[in-house]
Amino acid sequence: MTQSATPRRVSYQTDEFEPAPVELPDEAVPRETPVLPAPDAPRIIVIANQKGGVGKTTTAVNLAAGLAGGGLRVLVIDLDPQGNASTALGIDHQEGVAGTYEVLIDGAPIDRHVKASPEARGLWVLPATIDLAGAEIALVDVPGRESRLLRAIDRLIARHRVDYIFIDCPPSLGLLTLNALVAARELLVPIQCEYYALEGVSQLLRTIDLVKGSMNDRLKLSTIVLTMFDARTRLSTQVANEVRTHFPAETLTTAIPRSVRVSEAPSYGQTVIAYHRASAGARAYLAAAEEIARRGATGKGRR
Ligand code: ATP
Ligand code: MG
Repeated sequence: MTQSATPRRVSYQTDEFEPAPVELPDEAVPRETPVLPAPDAPRIIVIANQKGGVGKTTTAVNLAAGLAGGGLRVLVIDLDPQGNASTALGIDHQEGVAGTYEVLIDGAPIDRHVKASPEARGLWVLPATIDLAGAEIALVDVPGRESRLLRAIDRLIARHRVDYIFIDCPPSLGLLTLNALVAARELLVPIQCEYYALEGVSQLLRTIDLVKGSMNDRLKLSTIVLTMFDARTRLSTQVANEVRTHFPAETLTTAIPRSVRVSEAPSYGQTVIAYHRASAGARAYLAAAEEIARRGATGKGRR
């Protein structure tokens, strides 16, 4: 299966989504990219914040590209009907393209519908289309409605080697996000460095406690990423300090700066890492990806 995109793109076949550990060819890892340590078991990370526009999708796609560029096998599950993660990773997602909807509603296996992203070797996407907007309602009558994604991911990781799965959530705490919270082991919260940044976070954390208590006791807030940080404003610094005080262990050392390149990249169907690798935004996401990989590594790796 190939996907069409602009001519400069290389299309990797989805049949590369194979169970055996693969030797990556040299060109897969650019020389300036360190080879990152693989986790012992797949890390399933939900990226959620019910506040809109805080950088969930930007963080999902750029961390995924950074980790894949470091030689790891990464899947992004687009759980937002807006399909922004699919766009940023160069994947078609017009109405009718099969993806997350079919997995959640029809029980289709994830590996049937993943597409290889042209952004990096070892990076796959389960695309979301606008059809997913109807999924919240369609799911209501489906048995085990909050654990559909969990079951699909369990089947996937039983059959394929995947190092990271990022689930990009819509800006709400409905059934779609609930499926992600039930399926994931880690929660990553992007926090935009602005007023009221922490208000939504306390609501999110209450939801996490509910999910932990009833549906997924393995879920843990593992990572906070400060986004759109502007070192020139006192407000950004104040918010960053406040977040670090509340969540000293979870907050990454690397903050993502506000950068025009980051906001331009999606309009080219690219991550900022592919679009402008030398930009401050790309360097920050590469550093954040490395931090996440090293935090989750035991040194044993999976290979
Ligand atoms: P939604 O809640 O709608 O899903 P989101 O939380 O996924 O939004 P993004 O779509 O990632 O947020 O980002 C919101 C907007 O901010 C986008 O236009 C994005 O390009 C821009 N943006 C994100 N991060 C940065 C950054 N570091 N610098 C500049 N612009 C950014
Ligand atoms: Mg988004």
